[in-house]
Amino acid sequence: MNTFSTHCITNGPQVRASAEVIAKRFSCDRPGCPCGKRQGKGWITHCPVSDHDDDRPSLNLTDAINGRLLVHCFGGCSQDAVIAALREQRLWPETTLQGVTLGALAQAKGLPLDFLKGLGWRDSK
Ligand SMILES: [Zn+2]
Ligand SMILES: [Zn+2]
Repeated sequence: MNTFSTHCITNGPQVRASAEVIAKRFSCDRPGCPCGKRQGKGWITHCPVSDHDDDRPSLNLTDAINGRLLVHCFGGCSQDAVIAALREQRLWPETTLQGVTLGALAQAKGLPLDFLKGLGWRDSK
């Protein structure tokens, strides 16, 4: 009997934790705290940014249809700050676009520039 191994070919830019995994990771065990729960289309949890003492969950995480993870802190942290904090926890891909132009990335990945822009990639400043 032949065994065929099935390999899942992931062609996405990076693998990262899902919204649910991250939400649960930063959830606390205080009774009644809504963290680590689904909220609308996304998940709500405590903000991982160290400057943000988030006793009331204000980080919203949403898995977007195109495979991206959307993060939003209602406490006012920038997306960059949240992503940096997630990266420290190894919950976000290490590789960044810093120093790489979108055009170069598109070329490296063999993807149309408009496609990357559609995914939300932007040139870093
Ligand atoms: Zn909590
Ligand atoms: Zn925050």
